[in-house]
Amino acid sequence: MVSLMPSKVLERFLRYVTIHTTSKEDEESIPSTKRQFDLAKILVEELKDLGVAEVTLTDKCYVIARIPSNLSPETSKKVPVICFLAHMDTSPEESGENVKPQIVKNYQGGDIKLSGNPNLIISPQETPSLLKFIGSDIVTSDGTTLLGGDNKAGVAAIMTALARMKADPSLKHGTIKVVFTPDEEVGHGIDGLDVDSLKADFGYTIDGDEMGVLESETFNAAGGEIQIAGFNCHPGYAKDKMINAIRILADIIQNFPINESPETTENREGYYHPYESSASVNKAKLKFILRDFDYDKLKIKINKVEEFTNDIQQKYKHSTIELSLKESYKNMRYKIDEVPNVMLYAEEAIQRTGIPVIKKAIRGGTDGARLSYRGLPTPNIFCGAMNFHSKKEYVPVLAMEKSVETIINLVQIYVEKNLE
Ligand SMILES: [Zn+2]
Repeated sequence: MVSLMPSKVLERFLRYVTIHTTSKEDEESIPSTKRQFDLAKILVEELKDLGVAEVTLTDKCYVIARIPSNLSPETSKKVPVICFLAHMDTSPEESGENVKPQIVKNYQGGDIKLSGNPNLIISPQETPSLLKFIGSDIVTSDGTTLLGGDNKAGVAAIMTALARMKADPSLKHGTIKVVFTPDEEVGHGIDGLDVDSLKADFGYTIDGDEMGVLESETFNAAGGEIQIAGFNCHPGYAKDKMINAIRILADIIQNFPINESPETTENREGYYHPYESSASVNKAKLKFILRDFDYDKLKIKINKVEEFTNDIQQKYKHSTIELSLKESYKNMRYKIDEVPNVMLYAEEAIQRTGIPVIKKAIRGGTDGARLSYRGLPTPNIFCGAMNFHSKKEYVPVLAMEKSVETIINLVQIYVEKNLE
């Protein structure tokens, strides 16, 4: 059992959240904002202070560290190299500047008021899992910014786990790699990372939310565009001449089933999502995405869109309707299932902390999905933060502690299992 040192993970977390690291959409450069280097540089210094000799900060703002195994060279060879990842940026959806973390000591249930924003409360009605943390300390922002628990709770958990392993040589581990990434929130978290040169066997992002969460599934994804050509003329003399692209577009939209849309689906249900359109009589355009956890069901969705576009083309023979559609990413489960121990060991690591495992499927893409398809199978483990990308974000200190323990348990399980 790992000893609890509550102050350490909290101290680190409070230090990291006050550093402004908001990333930015639609930027060509990596990192999208230079300010992410501010946290990166601090992490490099802290890693060096911990005695981690091999630390680099790349010009694209990746902090990459290697912690050598503390096993004998012979045993060390048998134990896989594990990489832990967390992202340093926070979501551009809410301000992450001048974050003033507040600590609710010994939470006793009920609403949490946010001191800087009297209109906002964090309520157990909205997030029932708050009630699991009665008696724990809970960190929030002051209600004027997000907190940044996504993903600085993950950064703090990894750093604290390393500090404990350094301080206690009885905690045996193989070679560990740590990567702190920029720009995850704007979809470019691993664009600037050379995955091969990491030389890791398996990865874990510490970027899941609720305490106990373990995720190995993402959607299968496709998306595309439908372009409709109409024909405009004087509306007073348009009989049998005008082709109104707006009406054709309306016909097309009717075919995206409303009972399979983002606003009507949850958990493991997939969806069709038309999300942007423009239209005039002369031309119309529709952008859409398709999502499903099951690859065959995604294929069915793709076929359906192809079929109804075709049917509508038949109906409006004098218009031209062009469909372009392509697959964008695949469920990472297909890669992770090839190495079942990656999930089994993570489950055991969570269970050993005395909490139940919550297996979830991520209704979106993650860096882990891209890593998994670039040769590093990477499920996602909780960091404990809740209400991501919101001024109502909160992190129970207990949940961060359990995340730290999970990381330490996990590296030890890899040692145990490979020596048996
Ligand atoms: Zn995140």
